[in-house]
Amino acid sequence: MSKKRYATCTCEYCYAIVPKNEAFEDIVTEESGTSSGSSSPRYIMGDFSNYYRSQRTYERTFYRNRKIWICLDCMNKLNEQQIYEDMMREKEYEKFKSNMKPFVVFFSACVILFLILLLAPK
Ligand SMILES: [Zn+2]
Repeated sequence: MSKKRYATCTCEYCYAIVPKNEAFEDIVTEESGTSSGSSSPRYIMGDFSNYYRSQRTYERTFYRNRKIWICLDCMNKLNEQQIYEDMMREKEYEKFKSNMKPFVVFFSACVILFLILLLAPK
């Protein structure tokens, strides 16, 4: 009986080589270049000032979809991070709602008062 062998892929995040059946496939959108056609090596090196400069000059940027592989470990980490971010966003929203409450109550009271004054028999 021969052992089953799977094609391998490289994890996008930790660069581990894992069998494809143990990895997750994802599509990312990335910049494929600008209309000027120059892809600065400084940008590739992660120079963000260069990135912002190109944003400011309103160069037309092209995007392409790239298929990536994510190993199980990184997928778990990403999910945890996602859950954490969702939790934080939820908290922020709750805070926002509680901050807004007095304004909403005040505004509703004004509307009701206005309607009472408008509809009150003279
Ligand atoms: Zn990984």
